[in-house]
Amino acid sequence: MSYRSISYWFDSLGAEPELRSPLPGDREVDVAIVGGGFTGLWTAYYLMRADPSCRVAVIERETAGFGASGRNGGWCVALIHGLEEFFERDPRRGAALREAIKASVDEVGAVCQDEGIEADYHKGGGLTLATNPQQAERLREDLEYERGIGWTEEDIRWLDPEEVTARIRISSPFGGTFNTNTAAVNPAKLARGVADAAERRGASIYEQTTALAVEPGSVRTSHGTVRAPRIVMALDAHATLLPGCRRNLMPIYEHMIATEPLSDPVWDEIGLAERGLFGDYSRLFTYAQRTADNRIAIGGRNFDYHYRSAIGTRFEKNPHVEQLLIDALREMLPQLGEFAITHRWGGVLGIPRDFTSAISIDEATGIAGVRSHTGEGVCPSNLAGRTLCDIALGRKTPLTELPWVGHQSPQWEPEPFRWLGAQASRALLVSTDRAEKRGRQYPVRKRLLSAMGLDD
Ligand SMILES: Cc1cc2nc3c(=O)[nH]c(=O)nc-3n(C[C@H](O)[C@H](O)[C@H](O)COP(=O)(O)OP(=O)(O)OC[C@H]3O[C@@H](n4cnc5c(N)ncnc54)[C@H](O)[C@@H]3O)c2cc1C
Repeated sequence: MSYRSISYWFDSLGAEPELRSPLPGDREVDVAIVGGGFTGLWTAYYLMRADPSCRVAVIERETAGFGASGRNGGWCVALIHGLEEFFERDPRRGAALREAIKASVDEVGAVCQDEGIEADYHKGGGLTLATNPQQAERLREDLEYERGIGWTEEDIRWLDPEEVTARIRISSPFGGTFNTNTAAVNPAKLARGVADAAERRGASIYEQTTALAVEPGSVRTSHGTVRAPRIVMALDAHATLLPGCRRNLMPIYEHMIATEPLSDPVWDEIGLAERGLFGDYSRLFTYAQRTADNRIAIGGRNFDYHYRSAIGTRFEKNPHVEQLLIDALREMLPQLGEFAITHRWGGVLGIPRDFTSAISIDEATGIAGVRSHTGEGVCPSNLAGRTLCDIALGRKTPLTELPWVGHQSPQWEPEPFRWLGAQASRALLVSTDRAEKRGRQYPVRKRLLSAMGLDD
């Protein structure tokens, strides 16, 4: 299999990645980490930094960064799903979580700098654009809400249409927000770089090794058993394939495309002079990045769930969604003229039933982990890695006191209700986007969205 073909980001590595060896039989370690995406790799990295004598084994079915970590939009943004609820429950602890995730954006940049990881990290902020009046109204309301949980004008600020146009010339500017706590990264380069750094510091990363069952004290894999008093689960959506875990998350496929590199005159027309991030505020939002080699990589416009939580490479391409993304790009930036799409890909992420990201911890079994980052894990996985490091070393620190540690999400409904719910959600989001575009009011849909937890 060619790993270069899994995303534009993997292709941009410039060569087929060198694979690490599988687990060479049974092993005994101090910490076993299941999954070699951002969550697992950051955990391994911080463990080796904190205690170089710690024996750490990362077990990865394919290769480092193979999952969502090597396929995403590269928005490294200070955002944790559920932060608002944690804040409402306890403003002091909520504020601590807010500050911790904010600091994580810089922490990712600092590690890139210290470890010589060339991940095209650029902290230039992120633009969320309203492309119709309804989106503008919602975005303003949500900004008010953000203020309520302590995000300041310095963190996120409103942009009038003229200010939007000064940054990026979209066809229908109705305002937007600019989030300064946001960096663009090349996610595959970041994941591979963190893996190399963890390995240099002494972690063992076993690739081409599938975890088959996880029990207290051991991980049974396709290549032997790893025994460890501490186990960190870092599989995100893939964990639903393990015995007894199917209803923990709803696996959703997201899709992306990348254009060919765009010429300087075209970029002069678009604006976005700095390498930057932008997206719209539709319900099925889009997120895009001007890449280091001057393409646009854009994703979104989807909520793709498959019956019985099915996961597989056959779901990674979706011509319908890819066309929606091309249309969105043409509509938003007509000055693009003709452009070629060079890459199309997809990846899976897990959505918890209460849309809340969390770190699980079980002192009795020694198993901790992240169930899912709810589709927004580039930055939170760094915070999770540092926190899981402290948990695995048995340390009580400010990180282990953060309110997302120990939060438990309920299970999803059994089939066929899960599938029916996903289809209904998708239809509702699509039809609401259409209504907003036409400038219609939609009070019934609004109530339904809110009842289904899909309102912002
Ligand atoms: C198209 C797309 C766009 C996205 N855009 C953004 C974005 O712009 N910003 C943002 O913050 N988030 C984004 N996300 C979400 C983000 O990528 C994820 O939240 C994050 O990468 C999750 O990291 P992880 O390490 O927890 O999981 P993953 O990256 O999914 O890693 C899990 C790893 O486990 C391995 N594995 C699976 N099964 C087994 C097994 N049985 N044994 C051993 N190993 C196994 C997989 O191969 C994989 O490498 C996006 C996701 C997608 C799919």
